[in-house]
Amino acid sequence: MLAIRGIAMSIDRRGFIAASALLSSRVLAEETAAQKPMTQSHGSSPRRPLRRIATEEAFATPEQMAGMIGLSRSGWENLDMGLWRAWGRLQPGQANRLHDQLLDLEEVRIKEMDDNGVHMQVLSLTSPGVQQFDAPTAVSIAQDANDKLAAVIARHPNRFCGLAAFAPQDPKRTPQEMDRAINQLKLNGFILNSHTNGEYLDDRKFWPMLEAAEALERPIYIHPRCPSDDMAKPFRDYGMAAGICGFHTETALHATRMILGGVFDQFPKLQIVLGHMGEGLPYWLYRIDHVWRSTGSPDRLKTGPMDTFHRNFVVTTSGVNDPKVLKFVIDQLGADNVMWAIDYPYEVTKPAVDFMNTAPISEEERHKLFYLNAERVFHIPAV
Ligand code: MN
Repeated sequence: MLAIRGIAMSIDRRGFIAASALLSSRVLAEETAAQKPMTQSHGSSPRRPLRRIATEEAFATPEQMAGMIGLSRSGWENLDMGLWRAWGRLQPGQANRLHDQLLDLEEVRIKEMDDNGVHMQVLSLTSPGVQQFDAPTAVSIAQDANDKLAAVIARHPNRFCGLAAFAPQDPKRTPQEMDRAINQLKLNGFILNSHTNGEYLDDRKFWPMLEAAEALERPIYIHPRCPSDDMAKPFRDYGMAAGICGFHTETALHATRMILGGVFDQFPKLQIVLGHMGEGLPYWLYRIDHVWRSTGSPDRLKTGPMDTFHRNFVVTTSGVNDPKVLKFVIDQLGADNVMWAIDYPYEVTKPAVDFMNTAPISEEERHKLFYLNAERVFHIPAV
């Protein structure tokens, strides 16, 4: 119960108890019973009620959904198409939980948050974002998604913030949209779903976008997508294309290419967020750094892989509710560089909340992972 003390204070202060019949009586009863004075100090931070900000939470727009379903009917045998192809076969009125929950922002989603004591979701356009479309379509669907995201955040400023989609297919025009997303729409960062047509951000043609993110002082969340057409074949068996193997293989490859390609020598303040406890990279860092130093070309980088990862990367817990991995990742990266995430609606909210409520870490670390780090990384105002 330690982990949820203080929440009732937070909810009360924000007027939700009086205002919202959506809040579940179960959570409220639990939290009222658990309300106690906070006894833990949080380093130099003021003593604050615990707040749960989930940082990798997916949505879709009708335009993205229609565009992807259209592509999935084109005969393109691309690994990312599997899910969308199934949704394209839905008959009118036929329910599909994931399809419906991705398109929903204000009904089931907010109730699910209330029922589980989740204060805020950091929303991002679901994988693979706009990256399978031709450039004009990608630009248009990203702009529309960013407008819709800003509108829902304006209606629920205490419940949602969001990461802007952008079109790497048009790297010269995209910095304008990135600027608009932060300075006009007041979004909190950027979402990229790994490769774009088999190309990665170490390619210099994409660097105007990295320059923009660094100058805007907002992170790029590199979310997984399935391996590209060029490397798809061995992932077609045993359901390996997505969360079992393809996602983290692909995304770890992407981040490693960026590190070794000198991206962070050029953009030393660029912040990258990786989900799924860092897509395996925290585990491999020693070996990557060691082999790079002994057999690679160390003189080609100012900062080596280990130091770069510690300086430029933050990871989230999405989809890995494993306390042993959490302990390791905090040991490797420090508690300031790990954020909590659910991976809604692909993962279920309650086990992710229970995991972080009860993880064997200090209360100071729990506050960092649940909200303090997210407030810092995504510029979310404290409440
Ligand atoms: Mn996800």
